[in-house]
Amino acid sequence: MPHFPSPSPGPSPGCDGGIACTDVLIVGGGVCGTALLFELARYTDLAHVTLVERYSQLAQVNSRATNNSQTIHCGDIETNYTLEKALKVQRTAAMIGHYATLLPPEEADRCVFRTPKMVLAVGERECAFLRQRFLSFSPHFPAMELLEKEQIAAWEPAVALVDGQPRPEEIVAIGIRHSPTAVDYEALAESFVSQAHRAVAATDRSVAVRLNTTVERIVPEGPDPGDPASFLVELQGADGPRRLRARHVVVNAGAHSLLMAQHMGFGLQYSCLPVAGSFYFTPDLLRGKVYTVQNDKLPFAAIHGDPDVRAPGKTRFGPTALLLPLLERYRPASFWEFLQVLRLDWAVLAVLWQLFGVADIRNYILRNLLFEVPWLRRRLFLADARKIVPSMQLDDLRFAEGYGGVRPQLIDKAQRRLMLGEVSIAAIPGLVFNVTPSPGGTCCLGNAARDLEAIAARLGCRFDHQRLERELVAGEPGAEAFPPGPENRPSGAVVSVAQGRGSEASDS
Ligand SMILES: Cc1cc2nc3c(=O)[nH]c(=O)nc-3n(C[C@H](O)[C@H](O)[C@H](O)COP(=O)(O)OP(=O)(O)OC[C@H]3O[C@@H](n4cnc5c(N)ncnc54)[C@H](O)[C@@H]3O)c2cc1C
Repeated sequence: MPHFPSPSPGPSPGCDGGIACTDVLIVGGGVCGTALLFELARYTDLAHVTLVERYSQLAQVNSRATNNSQTIHCGDIETNYTLEKALKVQRTAAMIGHYATLLPPEEADRCVFRTPKMVLAVGERECAFLRQRFLSFSPHFPAMELLEKEQIAAWEPAVALVDGQPRPEEIVAIGIRHSPTAVDYEALAESFVSQAHRAVAATDRSVAVRLNTTVERIVPEGPDPGDPASFLVELQGADGPRRLRARHVVVNAGAHSLLMAQHMGFGLQYSCLPVAGSFYFTPDLLRGKVYTVQNDKLPFAAIHGDPDVRAPGKTRFGPTALLLPLLERYRPASFWEFLQVLRLDWAVLAVLWQLFGVADIRNYILRNLLFEVPWLRRRLFLADARKIVPSMQLDDLRFAEGYGGVRPQLIDKAQRRLMLGEVSIAAIPGLVFNVTPSPGGTCCLGNAARDLEAIAARLGCRFDHQRLERELVAGEPGAEAFPPGPENRPSGAVVSVAQGRGSEASDS
């Protein structure tokens, strides 16, 4: 066994035999893993926390800036959320805006963006639905405004006007004119790591981030396998295999969390259905985010358009939704991993059969297959995108090559249903596996706070709960906050409605 010197300044409890030790091991350097690293470093007194990421850079899978929709889902423009769910999501989503107020302005401006946003209803039925929704939601979301055609034209001319004249169909929208709306989740992950280092600087505590390192195996240790004292973790790095002993392990490895859980005999009731999303670019058509009314049977299927935070002067439309037999987009070898987590049996077939039995879903799945056919896809997508920008032309649209990740949607085989949200598999005390389809980016700090509480309860470390509540939940950062900088938005997006930056961090 190769000797692996302890990365911590002093030996952590449970350290022996020349194996490096850490209090908490986080597997996966996406936005969820790094959010947990940040919270453990800032709000606990744990001596040593380690994060391992198999790629050479952080956040190169679903959290990569190009691979998701860059949205903070607050529940106000997501018409598939009930009021109850919207209020729950709003609290967690606001944590990202509050986190940004803890950062130096130039760092905050790389991560979180403020643009106007709206959800657009087109046609009589959708308009009646959205007006009704405004009545029930606006008391809880006071920043909401009901926008008639003329106001939509003032906010987003390309949405309401064709050749300078109002578009013919009935339209109405719910708009929020200023709040943190867009996130570069890749930059956010980098920021979490740098703030974690900052939190332990000049203390005898430390955090270690090991890139190019893959977790191969996690073995519970101790006399009671149902309540292990620690975990022996086998790592594969660029310089060969290593071992690490951790008191607590949190796996935030996206779809691979399920693969790892199932290799250990946990989460076997789930199967995974990867849903890839592709995007299209147009010239600079929109000033902010324009979402559309969701179909109840197909939540998250309705496309939206918004300025891309990393592509100045371009508007991005999408995502499409394609069933793809890969755990990781653009990594064909992950086909074999997909087969392992599919765990095809009668229960999975029954769920697929149910899905195909619903005409809306069946047609949508088939249509999305056609979205991947090179000549056809732009033409088909144009028809959908014209719901948002009616004057869009085929020449305006370009397939965003290399963009879009894979949402690991889980099937609960026991209940024979497709699960739309995330799943956290608390396997045994001290070991948890998180699988995070959309809106996993939005929930990164909220989910990390949940895991942090479990870690603090189990390891008995100090946890400054009040400080976390004050800074991230209430958004009252106190004396340590940096003064607010000027307003920010993705470069290239022209914003005419009033907006600012500061303590109105959430749309709540
Ligand atoms: C098309 C699309 C649009 C989306 N839009 C939004 C949106 O607008 N808003 C939103 O909130 N969410 C959105 N999401 C969801 C969001 O992108 C994810 O929920 C979020 O990025 C998940 O973060 P993560 O850290 O859990 O996973 P990832 O970002 O996938 O990170 C997992 C990490 O684990 C690493 N890893 C895996 N296995 C190992 C191993 N064995 N050892 C070491 N490291 C390992 C991977 O390399 C990777 O870096 C979208 C997703 C898609 C696909």
